[in-house]
Amino acid sequence: MAKVLIIGAGGVGSVVVQKCAQVPEIFSEIVLASRTLKKCERIKKRLDRPIETAQIDADDTRALVSLVREIRPNLIVNVALPYQDLSIMDACLATGVDYLDTANYEPPDEAKFCYKWQWDYHDRFREKGLMALLGCGFDPGVTNIFCAHAAKHLFDEIEYIDIMDCNAGDHGRPFATNFNPEINIREVTQKGKYYQEGKWIETEPLSVHETFDFPQIGPRKMYLMYHEEMESLVKNLPGIKRIRFWMTFSDAYLTHLRVLENVGMTRIDPVDFQGCRIVPLQFLKALLPDPGSLGGGYTGKTCIGCMIEGKKDEKPRRHYIYNICDHEQCYREIGAQAVSYTTGVPAMIGAMMMLTGKWRGKGVFNVEQFDPDPFMEALPHHGLPWTETLLEE
Ligand code: NDP
Repeated sequence: MAKVLIIGAGGVGSVVVQKCAQVPEIFSEIVLASRTLKKCERIKKRLDRPIETAQIDADDTRALVSLVREIRPNLIVNVALPYQDLSIMDACLATGVDYLDTANYEPPDEAKFCYKWQWDYHDRFREKGLMALLGCGFDPGVTNIFCAHAAKHLFDEIEYIDIMDCNAGDHGRPFATNFNPEINIREVTQKGKYYQEGKWIETEPLSVHETFDFPQIGPRKMYLMYHEEMESLVKNLPGIKRIRFWMTFSDAYLTHLRVLENVGMTRIDPVDFQGCRIVPLQFLKALLPDPGSLGGGYTGKTCIGCMIEGKKDEKPRRHYIYNICDHEQCYREIGAQAVSYTTGVPAMIGAMMMLTGKWRGKGVFNVEQFDPDPFMEALPHHGLPWTETLLEE
């Protein structure tokens, strides 16, 4: 029995709240706080059990500390934006509350994805006897846990990992992003990067691609990108020779993105406009569909998983571990599209792991540092079944 404070009433926040509400024996009290109170109220109306709501600007650490002191939660689940990570971690330290998030901190004025800022909190969390769990969505999150599961059960030695994220869904809009547009576009337009033989190798944005035949979907072109889980996996799976991350994009998405980039709409530096300073990407976000609103009419599936190669009993092996998620099914269940669903469910399970003591530690952790078994067992029970195939010996 625990009280959880969920911060962020967006597409992912709506899934986390509804999924926590389905497990009252653990999440006995739920508080949802976000910048815009009416978004919290809208989510509250979807539930058949009472929750509390609150307005908060999570960038304001002092206001957040007062709210947390008033609510006294056991855990804060941060599904606002990565910009708020450090402020919420500071509030956790000030109030003695555990922390969980799904995306690593990045400074607003620089699209730089790295765990350093948050890993630097390790000693402070450890000294206070608190736990912070980072990157507990799908990717990062479940993809790291698939790797931990492979290391525990399938391989003596892991050599190569390819994380492949395919969204073959159709939301019927000319251009939309499946999670927060600003964060999504910053991620997609940065340089690609992968790890090989002890070095990070940079590539021009979306310049490297391959085609993969995704189960239940078919062949799709996927592009090499940098993604944050590679940084923690390289650290936590010593001996790995290569790790890459791939994501599929439709030609229409890429054409729109190219045009927006070419005209300067994806810039993250402020420009003068009629006497105001505006950030073009933030203005673009205001025009694009809210990711939480894409669910109705969204058809098709996502397939996210890890192709892992290595050795078992000195023989080479290749395993593919993946989840398929159906947009329409997610919408029928909780009014969400599959990208929000596949992020929100693992965040709820991670919270469950922490609150039940199945995953415990003092300090700041990534999910692959814990026993993958209880998490892997929980995934299908909460809507995310997974498949494991041995491709060749
Ligand atoms: P949305 O934009 O739909 O939702 C973000 C919510 O956070 C909004 O309700 C927003 O409020 C609120 N928020 C923003 N700033 C603040 C603030 N200063 N204080 C309080 N609330 C704030 O995004 P998503 O739900 O799509 O994504 C949420 C998070 O999940 C992101 O960090 C994203 O990177 C992460 N993610 C992780 C994935 C994974 O697999 N690991 C995959 C997909 C997403 P308002 O509406 O008022 O602006």
